[in-house]
Amino acid sequence: MQPDYATPSELRLVQEENLLLALDWAWQTPFYQQHFERHGVSRDAVRSLEDVWRLPLTTKLDLRSTLPTFRSALPRKDVEYVFSSSGTTGAPTHYLWSRTDTEVMRQGGSRAMGRVGVAPEDCALIIAPMGLPVMWFCMINQYNAMHSGVVPLGASSPGQTLDAIVEFQPTIITSLPIVGTRLAEYAAMTGRSAALAGRRCFHCAGDYLSNARRRRIESVWGDRCYNFFGLSEIFGPVAGECKCRDGMHVMSDRVLIEVLDPRTLQPAGEGEVGIAVFTALWQKGSPLIRYQSEDYVRLVSAPCRCGRTSPRLYYAGRSPFMANIGGHLVFPQRVEEVLLGLPSVGNEFRLTVVDDDHTDAVIVELEPLPGQRVDVAALSQALSDVLSAHVRLLVREPGTLARDEVKPHRIYDERSRRC
Ligand SMILES: [Zn+2]
Repeated sequence: MQPDYATPSELRLVQEENLLLALDWAWQTPFYQQHFERHGVSRDAVRSLEDVWRLPLTTKLDLRSTLPTFRSALPRKDVEYVFSSSGTTGAPTHYLWSRTDTEVMRQGGSRAMGRVGVAPEDCALIIAPMGLPVMWFCMINQYNAMHSGVVPLGASSPGQTLDAIVEFQPTIITSLPIVGTRLAEYAAMTGRSAALAGRRCFHCAGDYLSNARRRRIESVWGDRCYNFFGLSEIFGPVAGECKCRDGMHVMSDRVLIEVLDPRTLQPAGEGEVGIAVFTALWQKGSPLIRYQSEDYVRLVSAPCRCGRTSPRLYYAGRSPFMANIGGHLVFPQRVEEVLLGLPSVGNEFRLTVVDDDHTDAVIVELEPLPGQRVDVAALSQALSDVLSAHVRLLVREPGTLARDEVKPHRIYDERSRRC
């Protein structure tokens, strides 16, 4: 069976078989033994895929408050690495990583890279921090699995990155979306824009990619920009776009994704946005069963135009980065689509939600692109429509908004009464 082309019944059978094995394995860890017993769930409670809801959710707090050895059944000799999450929204969590984890991750990586035509002739420049967070390791392995070359640059300064691009002439750049536009800004400021053009692909991972930012990356780098989704608790390429770029195909034979209504924690409807709950369907070094993430996604099970039948994931945003404004959940990418869709507005922005006479209002700070003028009245109205709130627009000087976060929060809440 080719998982990307499996029928729903074929996929269900594989998922069920892998789930039961993963569950037997998780039951051998002290963490899940106690977790399941505390919730009154016996191993016999789950005999099929449809029983998975009987298992309690695992939260980020559960992971943060336990040692990695407590959450693993691996003998010491089988531990290949210890990795961590990125720590973007709090203390990083650590987990033990086995050789099997590397094998499954490479399967996912080669599938994701194969969908977008990565070949042995390619050379990928990786711009990601080296160290305990696992992202760089997954990136190296996904190209290595395709026998492609890799330049593991790490998190370098913009100048060093441009030097590496000129020197090594990579065909692929792989990094966070924000890096694509910040490097372009730096290159324009230093008169080195010509160094960027001519790549074959820009691969984005690690944060949301709006269509507007995607178009900007492509206009500057002169290449196709593809999006990939992963999470540290599992690995890098859990899902990735094909050449149709209409959602990211999920590695569903190895990762079960449930989408739950955030209020009821019951399954959301087909194609509806909800909280993603992840279960790793193999004997993972640090098993992960029904992990309630902070990611909001929607899943579409209809076959893609590319012919693949694997479900497609559309990323909506992360709960720590969103705000309830006037009773509506707002993710910053909705604003980003508006702002970066305009030729006059720069790549950075900041939203501050405030009390304005007992109603929510939003201060939107942005920069014009050099030499451009922002139509404040028209843009304020457009943003008010998107946010369903009064908007005050502040146009700052180019280059003055903070650029120190690689995963920018974008929305800051300064209301005295939080929703
Ligand atoms: Zn497709």
